[in-house]
Amino acid sequence: MPRPIQALIHTEALSHNLRQARQAAPDARIWAIVKANAYGHGIDRAYEGLRGADGFALLDLSEAEKVRSLGWRGPILLLEGVFEPRDLELCSRLDLWHVVHCTEQIDWLAAHKTQKPHRVFLKMNSGMNRLGLRAGAFRAAWARLNALPQVDEISLMTHFAEADGERGVAQQLATFTAATHDLTGERSLANSAAVLRYGADPAVRADWVRPGILAYGSSPDFPAHDIDHWGLQPAMTLRSRLIAVQPLTAGDSVGYGARFTATEPLRVGVVACGYADGYPRVADTGTPVLVDGVRTRTLGRVSMDMLAVDLTPVPQAGLGAEVTLWGRAANGTVLAIDEVARAAGTLGYELMCALAPRVPVEVVA
Ligand SMILES: *Cc1c(COP(=O)(O)O)cnc(C)c1O
Repeated sequence: MPRPIQALIHTEALSHNLRQARQAAPDARIWAIVKANAYGHGIDRAYEGLRGADGFALLDLSEAEKVRSLGWRGPILLLEGVFEPRDLELCSRLDLWHVVHCTEQIDWLAAHKTQKPHRVFLKMNSGMNRLGLRAGAFRAAWARLNALPQVDEISLMTHFAEADGERGVAQQLATFTAATHDLTGERSLANSAAVLRYGADPAVRADWVRPGILAYGSSPDFPAHDIDHWGLQPAMTLRSRLIAVQPLTAGDSVGYGARFTATEPLRVGVVACGYADGYPRVADTGTPVLVDGVRTRTLGRVSMDMLAVDLTPVPQAGLGAEVTLWGRAANGTVLAIDEVARAAGTLGYELMCALAPRVPVEVVA
């Protein structure tokens, strides 16, 4: 028998979460964001659940090739555009749409020889100060692209820095709208947080939305709102089993550094899951975990291949008992990845992306 750790990818949950995005942003078309190998889920494994989207958005040409090889004939968007001039050849060959976020990318297009003009998404830096042309340089870039025979349609795009926070999107939306109101072209602004929180505003949802994390069943504004609030379902379960049980007496401690010491007799379950599987090492005693679908806590430090859990709420659990690190237990109980991430001082994004290659993955309904 292989080591009992396993990840499950839930096809139905991916489709369900995309439907939630559609409901929150009615009439907008949806980019399924599959960068970072579909946020750690695997593009090929997530494809079935996400193919109800209107397009796939990603970063790497190899990811675009993968999506085409899976049979997708619809739109594919390179979210950072091309990295060097010869990438444009593959864009022509695979019919990829690409972001243009700097003047150099326009220079490269102007020098590119192609039979078929490209669809581009011109990106404005409306306040994030990462990628994009500033509002003052945006029109000139648009006019230059518009005059190029290599360019077909120009869409307009920006990215919000605080859609998940208190400041929201108002200021960036105003900057974007003021600088683009008389330019033609489809528009794309909203990430997951903007879709869920502001998708009712037609100016925010616009023509194309870009929901990433919500599709994978993590709340973009946790802990203000959890996945239940947004009606999302976990797309990834990380599960394993107990491979040992240790009865402790008062004064016994657990694991490296003896970070947890029992004050009374306690059954400790040892789980075949550690930081080499992608479980966060910094998650301390008290991180939520499910044993046989019952919520309990971790104890002591996470090691490379194992971690310890408190079996007090599940006295019947013994060797081989099911342990859900995040996602859905066999009895249907859900432990949101956001809760585990919070205990580790990070986000669901980081945990799902960090699922280790040694963990076998199975796609389920
Ligand atoms: C990653 C990404 C998204 C998706 O963001 P989420 O917070 O995961 O919804 C949207 N747009 C761009 C440009 C991105 O790079």
